Amino acid sequence: MRLSFDHKKQEANNIYSFFFKPESQLDFTAGQYIELSLPHKNPDDRGIKRWFTISSAPTEELVSITTKIIDSSSSYKQAMLKLEVNDQLSFTGPMGDFVLPKLIQTPLVFIAGGIGITPYHSIVSWLKATHEDRPIQFIYGVKSEEEIIFQDTFEKLNIHPIVVVKNPSSAWGGERGRLSAELIDGLITPSPDSLTYISGPEPMVESLSKDMIKLGTKQQQLVLDFFPNYLAI
Ligand SMILES: Cc1cc2nc3c(=O)[nH]c(=O)nc-3n(C[C@H](O)[C@H](O)[C@H](O)COP(=O)(O)OP(=O)(O)OC[C@H]3O[C@@H](n4cnc5c(N)ncnc54)[C@H](O)[C@@H]3O)c2cc1C
Repeated sequence: MRLSFDHKKQEANNIYSFFFKPESQLDFTAGQYIELSLPHKNPDDRGIKRWFTISSAPTEELVSITTKIIDSSSSYKQAMLKLEVNDQLSFTGPMGDFVLPKLIQTPLVFIAGGIGITPYHSIVSWLKATHEDRPIQFIYGVKSEEEIIFQDTFEKLNIHPIVVVKNPSSAWGGERGRLSAELIDGLITPSPDSLTYISGPEPMVESLSKDMIKLGTKQQQLVLDFFPNYLAI
C-alpha cells in the first residue's frame, strides 16, 4: 500500500513522529507494525526498509510512526527528516501480535523501554477512542528526562505511567534506575492472571523477560516486542 507524507512532529530532542495519509483506509489492530520502504540517494548498508510500530490509533485518519534520529543515524533516518509534503512511500503489513487480548477483564502490565513506548501510544489512544476501559499498570523506562514522550496523550486519557529514569538530573523527583525485573517487582503487584507486555530495544526485552521468568512470571503471561539496532535502556 502507498502512503503520502503529511507532516512531522518533534516529540522530544531526538524523537520525531511522522504522519502519513494512506491511499485507502488502513485496517490494523493497535500494537501492530509495518515495514516502511524509503528509497533515497546513496543508502548505507542498512538499506531502504525498516519496521516501525504504528504509533497512531486505528481510529485516526493519519497513520504515524515514531522514531529516534541522531546525527550518526542511518541514511534511512536522515532521509526521513528530509521528507516533503506529498512524498510517496510504500509499506507492507500491518502485521504482528503485540495486541490486546480479547478478554477485556484481563489485567495488563505495560512495560516500555525508550522508543518501545510506540505501541502503547496506539493501544491507549484506541482504548480512549472506543471508550474501552482496561485494568492497566504501566512502567516506562528512559535514559534521561529529555527522552520522555507522549505524556500529554497519556495524561488526557487519565493514564499515568510510572516513569523510571536511568540517568536523571538532580531535579527529577520520580523513580530512578535501570529498568530491571527487581525494580519492576518493587513498583507494581501484578495479579496471577495478568498479561505482561514488554516493548523496547532487543537486549532490554530479552534480559527483562528472562529475569521476570526467574522471579515467577510464566512464559505464557509475556507478550514481547523487540526493536533491533537499539541499545538497552
Ligand atoms: C516489530 C518491530 C517494531 C519496531 N518499531 C519501531 C518503532 O516504533 N520505532 C523505532 O524507532 N524503531 C522501531 N523498530 C526498529 C527499527 O526497525 C530500526 O531497527 C531502528 O529504528 C534502528 O534504525 P536504524 O537501523 O536506521 O538505526 P539508527 O536509528 O540510525 O541508529 C541506531 C544506532 O545504530 C548506530 N548506527 C547507525 N548506522 C549504523 C551503521 N551503518 N552500522 C552500525 N551502527 C550504526 C547509531 O549510531 C545508533 O546508535 C522496530 C523493529 C521491529 C522489529
